[in-house]
Amino acid sequence: MVADLIDQVKTREGGGVTKDGLFSIKSAYKLLSKLEEEGQSARASSSRSRPWESIPDAVWNRVWSIQTLPKIKAFLWRVCNEAIASGVGLRHRNVNIDPICVRCGVHKETRDHILLGCSFARSVWFGSSLQFSPSDNPSLIDWIRSWEVWFRQDKRLAREALSKAAFICWYLWRARNELSLKGIIWTSSEVLQLAEKAYLEFSALIKDSDKGGLGIIFRDHTGRCLKARSIPHILGSIIQGELLAIRHALNLAIDLGVDNLLVQSDCKDAILFMEEKKSPDWEVEGLVANVVRLKSSFVSISFSFVSKAMNNVSDALARKALSLEYLTDWPNSIRWFQELCDSEVSGCTHPLPQ
Ligand SMILES: [Zn+2]
Repeated sequence: MVADLIDQVKTREGGGVTKDGLFSIKSAYKLLSKLEEEGQSARASSSRSRPWESIPDAVWNRVWSIQTLPKIKAFLWRVCNEAIASGVGLRHRNVNIDPICVRCGVHKETRDHILLGCSFARSVWFGSSLQFSPSDNPSLIDWIRSWEVWFRQDKRLAREALSKAAFICWYLWRARNELSLKGIIWTSSEVLQLAEKAYLEFSALIKDSDKGGLGIIFRDHTGRCLKARSIPHILGSIIQGELLAIRHALNLAIDLGVDNLLVQSDCKDAILFMEEKKSPDWEVEGLVANVVRLKSSFVSISFSFVSKAMNNVSDALARKALSLEYLTDWPNSIRWFQELCDSEVSGCTHPLPQ
């Protein structure tokens, strides 16, 4: 299944402006329907009210960038929001149960304990290829934040390791539920085998099915291209791709010192979310909140609808991203890019070669 989407972000000069320009973005998206169904079922089972404001942006961005199944990403988001039914979590919701860990019978069963602190979790982490030893009083949020160091050292290795870690978290939670709800004991090596198998299957699957891409073109108000960027990105859903493209563009606009921004998108939902006129589904609730917060970085920012036919250049940039490993900024001198810009200026909206 292939779906495409287009966003345009334009910046314009306003009163007393220091910088102005035109911003166009686009994401291309491919995903097996199986993965989407899993994401939908995870969303359907999710609760709606979330204290997402307390989660640092770095953590939240990292959770969204993890390469894993949509259901596991949704699970991690719920975990970060303290929205899983741990013993302590249930007690906070006035459920009259014993909040002590069913595995070790010693400590209170918090999300941090289930996934990191319990002796069982520790044996799983240490036995894994990550050979990770959680600290004495581990915090999931601090742990996710600590991944930034890994990513600065070796992005590809860190990405693989974090993907594995996400599967381990998922099966630690599954193991906890098997024991707590059914009395079935999974050993640490069983958890590891299941996580490893699921990770390998997922890795094989995404090689040719789940790869997506974002395309961004940034122009000044005369139409001159300042930045043409292709960003390979694993995407969990179409709307997620839309919002990630907008977020990347806003961050780039901030870096470039743009003060006044007009965002044009062909996705009406994305515009309504940005204008805070419609509540997003749970799946992208945090992402929307994250992007909405970026709006305060501009002197003025507005959003409007534009047709897909008007977005050939960023469409092509997003498609280029599908075959790339890393974020790529294209020089203006590349011929296909020049021809593309010329065709857009002349109003040509024919499909372009990939
Ligand atoms: Zn325990």
